[in-house]
Amino acid sequence: MSAVDIDGLTKRYGDVTAVSELSLSVDRGEVFGFLGPNGAGKSTTINILLGFLDPTAGEVSVLGTDVTRDPQSVKARVGLLPEAFEPVPNLTGREHVAAAVETKGSDDDPDALLDRVGLAPEDASRPADDYSTGMFQRMALAVALVGEPDLLVLDEPSAGLDPNGVRLVREIVREEADRGAAVFFSSHVLDEVERVSDRVGILQDGELTAVNSVENLRDDLGMGSVVSATVDAVPDLDPIRAVDAVTDVSADGSTVRVACAAPGAKMAALRRLDDRATVADVTIEESSLEDLFEAYTTDRPEAGDGDAGDGATGPGAGAESATGDEPSAATAGGDRT
Ligand code: ADP
Ligand code: MG
Repeated sequence: MSAVDIDGLTKRYGDVTAVSELSLSVDRGEVFGFLGPNGAGKSTTINILLGFLDPTAGEVSVLGTDVTRDPQSVKARVGLLPEAFEPVPNLTGREHVAAAVETKGSDDDPDALLDRVGLAPEDASRPADDYSTGMFQRMALAVALVGEPDLLVLDEPSAGLDPNGVRLVREIVREEADRGAAVFFSSHVLDEVERVSDRVGILQDGELTAVNSVENLRDDLGMGSVVSATVDAVPDLDPIRAVDAVTDVSADGSTVRVACAAPGAKMAALRRLDDRATVADVTIEESSLEDLFEAYTTDRPEAGDGDAGDGATGPGAGAESATGDEPSAATAGGDRT
């Protein structure tokens, strides 16, 4: 049985289609990263998962239960960190967690949970209204963890956290998945999603444009890695361009950049370079989810059906310089000589 089963989900607010025919499943023990720009429909999907919103169309089942039929039993088994957690005035952090323990009928120790999320005891004793965003987010995470939920749903859990907090979220997500919980979380911190997710789904304008492991998404796009080598003098680069699976070679000052679509191409290209110049230093950069995200949301590589809208959606201008290694069409022709 899947932890989450969404089939043909559509949600409209008047004229706005926030989510359009979305289908996806998340397994138990799986970490699923739900990515997309602001307004993509992530929070809407999450609110429907928890039964806070009714779908316009489609089926949503959580832990085997149809959410629209029995939202209460779903809520009892799901831990949620919502996008906007409203504190109860004057209630301390500890009291917020204790209230969730009570509601869920769990026997968790609020102090242990607060310790796990790194909220100091003296802070736990203060009213949550006075918390910084980061402290508040930690408390909200503790609330989500109450009762060892079978499904943890986190809407932008890293928002407002410092790097230590972001790392902590990642550790907790992994720990929860290891004890068998499914984790469904949305985020803009793509780097973090990439490191912790088993699979990611990329949502744009309410439509899922890709679902896959980060690794397979990368393969789909033919975006491998970029080898940057510092050389004493830049040699003729054509022999390096000729290496199998090398998709682009360029030089900038004494740095040669080689884009490789397959792992084996890296060493082959480096050897040829080393035969023709003295290599002083080498760095290898794997394509990040950020690159993937951009490729999927601005210029989908295999949009399959007609892609009617030619003019695409404006933001192309935001894509700063990284033109050296465009993932898709540009590489098709292979050799440029
Ligand atoms: P995300 O969480 O990915 O940023 P949301 O799910 O919050 O996206 O929003 C998806 C779209 O639905 C946006 O266009 C947003 O403006 C719209 N939307 C969200 N909530 C409402 C609402 N209550 N009424 C009308 N439109 C809404
Ligand atoms: Mg949101």
